[in-house]
Amino acid sequence: MRSVVLERKDELRIRDLDPKESLGPTDVRIAIKTVGVCGSDVHYYTHGAIGPFVVREPMILGHEAAGIIEEVGSAVENLKVGDRVCMEPGIPDPNSRASRLGLYNLDPAVRFWATPPVHGVLRPSVVHPAAFTFKLPDNVSYAAGAMVEPLAVGFHAVSKARLTPGAIALVTGAGPIGMVTAIAALSAGCARVIVTDVVDEKLAVARKLGPAIVTVNVRSQDLKSIIARETEGWGVDVVFECSGAADVVADTVHHACPGGAIVFVGMPVKPVLFDVVIAQTKELRVEHVFRYAHVYPRIVALLGSNQINVDALITDTYAFEDSIEAFDYAVRPKPSSVKIQIELGT
Ligand SMILES: [Zn+2]
Repeated sequence: MRSVVLERKDELRIRDLDPKESLGPTDVRIAIKTVGVCGSDVHYYTHGAIGPFVVREPMILGHEAAGIIEEVGSAVENLKVGDRVCMEPGIPDPNSRASRLGLYNLDPAVRFWATPPVHGVLRPSVVHPAAFTFKLPDNVSYAAGAMVEPLAVGFHAVSKARLTPGAIALVTGAGPIGMVTAIAALSAGCARVIVTDVVDEKLAVARKLGPAIVTVNVRSQDLKSIIARETEGWGVDVVFECSGAADVVADTVHHACPGGAIVFVGMPVKPVLFDVVIAQTKELRVEHVFRYAHVYPRIVALLGSNQINVDALITDTYAFEDSIEAFDYAVRPKPSSVKIQIELGT
């Protein structure tokens, strides 16, 4: 089947590649409709590796996907042909210790789309377990359905933060993950969400997420005094670190209030400094997130009831035949660009 194949670093092609999947009794076959381009896809394209995951053989990219069911396994009861769905891209071993503990995202044996050596889904169809396939309400588009994967990171971060209504949060970094984390923080009832970045165009997109968003360009504005103004000098309840930048990570302890929390969402490329003593004197709770678990059904329900909306984040849409162009654009996007998506079969 015609797929978007990363042959090796810097070499992407649309060509036939058939992962030869067979439909088991608990699987569904899904015709792919929309796939979001993720920073990880772009990083494999430009670097050929992320940490220990190295592209050694041609790999199909794409893991943020929505589509329509075209075949169901004999034991599948919750889905039928014609259902519009989105899919959780990581398949854990259900018998692993992590899965049995409910931490299935931490199963070392998890098979995650477009993480070597597992193929992604920029291709006409995929076979996937029904247990990791979620029916979309009629009012949720394929484009929004393909946003559930990045949203899941934000909602998992908010679950880890244990946010309560009326809290004030800081989200550092207004890239796609910062944006979805801000949406999740608003959805959890934050009174205000302060979003930082160094690019005004990104902050303009963040402001579209709602009136409770306060944006700060840390190049031209003083974040410390704005946090002091917004929190009566107390500090924010939760810092969601989404930039991965070393100096931003180092500052998180100063922004959080006594008894507050820091959630590390962004991934620094190298080990970073973190002042434990300041964190101790404030008794900060520090959390980390790796992907997500148990959040897809909640996000699909929130999209269905119009409690969250991701339209402002989908800034660029390409046809499947233009996938290479989409990836080359994703390497150097416009500053206002947040999420690039690719549509199939239209
Ligand atoms: Zn992603």
